[in-house]
Amino acid sequence: MSDEPRETPSNFIQDIIREHNASGRFGGNVITRFPPEPNGYLHIGHAEAISIDFGMAQEFGGRCHLRFDDTNPTKESQEYVDAIIDTVRWLGYDWGPHLYYASDYFEQLYAWAVQLVKAGKAYVDDLTPEQMSEYRGTLTEPGRESPYRNRSVEENLDLLHRMRVGEFDDGTRTLRAKIDMASGNINLRDPVMYRIRKATHQRTGDAWCIYPMYDWAHGQSDSIEGVTHSICTLEYEDHRPLYDWYLDQLGVHHPQQIEFARLNVSHTVTSKRKLLELVEQELVSGWDDPRMPTLVGLRRRGYTPEAIRDFCHRVGVAKAAKVVDIAFLEHCLREDLNRRAERRMAVLRPLKLVIENYPEGQVEALEAVNNPEDPAAGTRKVPFSRVLYIDVDDFRDPAPPKYFRLSPGVEVRLRYAYIVKCTDVERDSSGQVTTVRCTYDPDSRGGDSRGRKVKGTIHWVSASHSIPAEVRLYDHLFTVPKPDDVDEWRSILNPNSLEVVRGARLEPALAGVPPGSIFQFERQGYFCVDLRESTPARLILNRTVGLRDTWAKIEGKG
Ligand code: ATP
Ligand code: MG
Repeated sequence: MSDEPRETPSNFIQDIIREHNASGRFGGNVITRFPPEPNGYLHIGHAEAISIDFGMAQEFGGRCHLRFDDTNPTKESQEYVDAIIDTVRWLGYDWGPHLYYASDYFEQLYAWAVQLVKAGKAYVDDLTPEQMSEYRGTLTEPGRESPYRNRSVEENLDLLHRMRVGEFDDGTRTLRAKIDMASGNINLRDPVMYRIRKATHQRTGDAWCIYPMYDWAHGQSDSIEGVTHSICTLEYEDHRPLYDWYLDQLGVHHPQQIEFARLNVSHTVTSKRKLLELVEQELVSGWDDPRMPTLVGLRRRGYTPEAIRDFCHRVGVAKAAKVVDIAFLEHCLREDLNRRAERRMAVLRPLKLVIENYPEGQVEALEAVNNPEDPAAGTRKVPFSRVLYIDVDDFRDPAPPKYFRLSPGVEVRLRYAYIVKCTDVERDSSGQVTTVRCTYDPDSRGGDSRGRKVKGTIHWVSASHSIPAEVRLYDHLFTVPKPDDVDEWRSILNPNSLEVVRGARLEPALAGVPPGSIFQFERQGYFCVDLRESTPARLILNRTVGLRDTWAKIEGKG
């Protein structure tokens, strides 16, 4: 995944798997699954789960399934299913033929529910949802048994069947496991197995109007698929006794559930509910808005699968919750792009520069290195002529202290070209500089041919050869590191998270580059041709990430 192999100490999940392999509990098999619910798009936290689920299987020579946990039709859709499949593949993982849907197990789950009813381990309850939560008790008080708890097996079987065929309204009855209303673990206080939902499911249509709860579906789905290690996040730790109880009652193949801490990234949210709100309230342009922490958003921003995998790998597996600085994600991305992205010159905010002593009509093709990190990337020709554009920020009159770019009387090198000296400026009626006039030194082409050093080097494009583009600059979506801690988190949305720069000028080698291509614009950062809106006639680029690495600074490396 990365050029340099990284030695990471073994994590606790690897330790558990090794123990199982040594004891022979699963005959040396390692079968994992990634089980997204198709009720939203995957985000950077899911990438961590995917990297662990697929990573463990790869490492131990096993396999990982992609299973949709599609048990709640009111929140799920085929759009999400398709997007998730696409995204996991884009990240670089392969489940072979092992694509599964919990909804394919509905019939088996129902048969198992009947089995539990027959064994006196499950009953149909008529309590309303409100009554049920009243009866459930609290962390400090035991719950109370439902008056319907001791129905006969025959009555339960009859009612369950009638629930299935649609005789009852939503919310009027449930099937519950008969465990222990006094349990210290609330999940074991007769948890609901089925609820009535007269909703059309994206795969099973109207075949069902009762749908299994997560806990009733998940372990049994794992078991059906022969999963050995069911890796999930910490919020399921308290559900593990229930996971185990169901499988023990049924006496079927019993995987081991293992929990790890969710990954949180600073300055963003990784809750599908909150991400959905951002989309629905049009606070962003969609799930793939380049500011979103969704994998489709990161992809559109210019993140590579390699950088994301590397990030997840280096973050590692933890048992304690943590927030990883988004600067570290950006650091991993820069490391990858620095190796791979070709360099180009682009002027985001153009200022005209005229070279008085450069022959009118003359054009030179100057050689520029495509990637100093990768000699195989070769060189390209960049046209140079009398009228150029430079960035407005690269000229000041008068020059502030320690300003080594262009100003009156000062010389700078034009990257890959000549040394120029500013001799004059033109201004408009408001005093704004409109044109910088220069002379050039014809003997200074390329490097320092005469050993002459100048302090600054700036980038440029030839005015008549350059092509126009729209460039979108991004900043963090939220102004605070932990948006989850703020109640009214919309009030901390960064109003400057998107800046649209129209009228940028790019070197002509960028004409016709396909959407998704990523370049380093010299001195400015990495930019990606927009996947959704860029066309050959209207080029649009997203700034992926700037060049300055704040994480390296934090770590004292920069
Ligand atoms: P929901 O609230 O809809 O259940 P979810 O984030 O748990 O949201 P799932 O689709 O159930 O979404 O997640 C699929 C898998 O990804 C689960 O195993 C879940 O534990 C894991 N996962 C989700 N978010 C993170 C995260 N931030 N870090 C690590 N793993 C995560
Ligand atoms: Mg979940």
